[in-house]
Order: sequence, then C-alpha cells, then structure tokens
Amino acid sequence: MNILITGGAGFIGSHVVRRFVDSYPNYNIYNLDALTYAGNLENLKDIDSKPNYKFIKGDIVDEGFINKLFMEIDFDGVIHLAAESHVDRSIEDPLAFVRTNIIGTVNLLNAAKNTWKDKFEGKRFYHVSTDEVYGALGEEGLFTETTSYDPNSPYSASKASSDHFVRAYGETYGLPFVITNCSNNYGPYHFPEKLIPLFINNIMENKSLPVYGDGKYTRDWLFVKDHARAIDLVFHKGANHDTYNIGGFNEWQNIDLVKLLCKVMDNKLNRTEGESEKLITYVKDRPGHDLRYAIDATKINKELGWKPSVTFEEGLELTVDWYFNNPDWLEHVTSGDYKEYYKKMYS
Ligand code: NAD
Repeated sequence: MNILITGGAGFIGSHVVRRFVDSYPNYNIYNLDALTYAGNLENLKDIDSKPNYKFIKGDIVDEGFINKLFMEIDFDGVIHLAAESHVDRSIEDPLAFVRTNIIGTVNLLNAAKNTWKDKFEGKRFYHVSTDEVYGALGEEGLFTETTSYDPNSPYSASKASSDHFVRAYGETYGLPFVITNCSNNYGPYHFPEKLIPLFINNIMENKSLPVYGDGKYTRDWLFVKDHARAIDLVFHKGANHDTYNIGGFNEWQNIDLVKLLCKVMDNKLNRTEGESEKLITYVKDRPGHDLRYAIDATKINKELGWKPSVTFEEGLELTVDWYFNNPDWLEHVTSGDYKEYYKKMYS
C-alpha cells in the first residue's frame, strides 16, 4: 500500500505519520508537507530513516505539482491533514485559509479522482476535519454527525467548505471518502501558539497567561495520540462515504483548564500552589468567538469500539512532562517567526 499523508510535519500529522510508519512496516508512507511556520521535521526525527517512510516537500495549492505527484506514485489512500489551522491567524488573513484549506483540498480530490479514474476498489480519501464546522452550542447539547454546519470563523468556514467538497466528490464522482470531525487536540509537538503549549511555555518563562474574555469558553479536549489511533481505525474500518465525530467526552471551561494546568506546573517547578495562577491576565475577546463546542462520539464508540485511552489529567501530565523533557524542540520553535507573530498578537 502507498499512503499519502498530507501535513505530516504538523502537530497531529506527525503523530499519524509515526503511528502508520511504526504499525505498518509493509505500507509505504509518504509525508507531503509545505513546511509552513507550523510544519517542523524535528517532530519526526525518530522515524526519519525508517525504510517505509519518505518525506516530500510540496504545496497542496500547487495544482501542477500535485497532479504530477499522483501520476508518479500510485497512492492507495490519502489521509489529508495539511491545513492552515489557527483561528486567530484566519481572522488576520482569511485568504491564506481559502487557498490551503479549500483550493488545496480540491487539488488533492481532483488528482485522486483523475488518477484513480473509476477504479475505486481499495482506494480511500480520508479528510481530517474539526468540530468547529458545527458552530457554537449553548449550555446544553452535543454535536452529532447530523448537526447542521454553521461555521463562525474564517478557519471553520474554510474547513466546512473543504468537508462539503469531499462529500460532493463522493456523490458526484463516486470517490470513496471518509471524514472525521474532531474536538481540540493537545499533547507533544503542539506548536506553542495554541492554548496548552503556549501556557506551558509562558509559565516556564514566568510570562503572563492571556485568557480571552471572561474565560468561560468551553471546549472538549482530546489527547493527540488518541486522535491518531482513531484515524488509524477509521482509515481501515470506517464505512465508506461516512462521517465520524471524534471527541474526548471531556469538556472544560478555559479558565478551569488554565487553573488545572497552573497546578500541574506549580508541582513540576516546585512552586508554592497558586503561584502560576498569578500570571493569568484577561485579554479582549476575539471576534466571532464560539461559546461552547462539545462532541458526541457515540457513533465511533459503538461502531468501531474507539474511546479515549487516557483521562485529561493523565494526558496533561504526559504533555507537561514531554515539554520539560524536550527543551531543544521548544527553543527551536519559539525562535524566529513565532516570536514576531506572538508580539503582534499579544503585546
Ligand atoms: P498544524 O498547523 O500543526 O499542521 C498543519 C501542517 O500542514 C503543517 O505541517 C504545515 O506545514 C502543513 N501545511 C500547511 N499548509 C500547507 C500547504 N499549502 N501544503 C502542504 N502542507 C501544508 O495543524 P494540526 O493542528 O496538526 O491540524 C491538522 C489537521 O487536523 C487540520 O486539517 C486541522 O483542521 C485538523 N484538526 C485539528 C485539531 C486541533 O485541535 N489541532 C482538531 C480537529 C481537527
């Protein structure tokens, strides 16, 4: 089997690539990534020289390049994760999200459709998406696979659009696809512009912890390795032309999550309890901020037997330990572009 994984140098993609390379020595795993600010080959240093792994640098927006790649390699499956993924950046520059998340996805769909022609037997296009496409929930209720799309940010609008294109290629051309919509991930190799790694880094450096609005935003959190395990399961066993929601059954208001993280960090840093919490500062809310997301992951649980393997407290400990044990990774990532961006957004 030749499997193309896009965005494999990013946060979730690197966990998916590692899992497939390690678990399936008989598959050839091709990792296609443009290495934007979020792509980092250091995420995959440990599997770099494995014989069933190959990295390809390239941009999914480049139609000619994508078509040529699909002509050169006969892919049996595509697991598509490459995306612009940060909501704050999408508010600054929506077109970058249209290009990668929509045009890039359509380029991949076209290349798969054209090279697979009508011989779809054994082929699969797996599109990795987010729960943010469903919009916001009130205090009650959960997103299910049949919840209507109602995206509120340029990021979620671009992901919603790409989901629709994937489904439309299934309906119109018969392309075999599967889509998953997952809640917020956390864990090792997470770029420190996102809440949990940003705050771990800031607590280590005694910098302020900027919490949006009143901190009451609620998100469902899932340990990234559990997401990678779900992707593996759905890729191999998920029903064709179907969608699965993936979530941690683990809702947290931002402020409670930050306080828990402060407690874990106080412990690790031998600080007196409550010291890191003093770094919390409330900052102006971002526009279009959704109050609550929560996933109903019953379908993947019932049909495929998937459920999270760690509690949030366990996953958070594992994550904090990883950042403490990998200071070089953090140092390399926090230099350069990231600092410029950080200054612009938070100073
Ligand atoms: P990420 O930003 O860490 O990684 C994205 C990767 O895509 C990077 O390696 C980047 O270099 C690459 N990339 C970006 N533009 C590209 C282009 N034009 N061509 C080729 N490669 C390009 O993102 P992530 O958090 O790992 O998310 C991966 C996927 O999972 C995304 O599709 C995202 O929408 C989805 N998702 C993320 C979360 C989450 O909590 N992070 C939750 C649900 C779904």
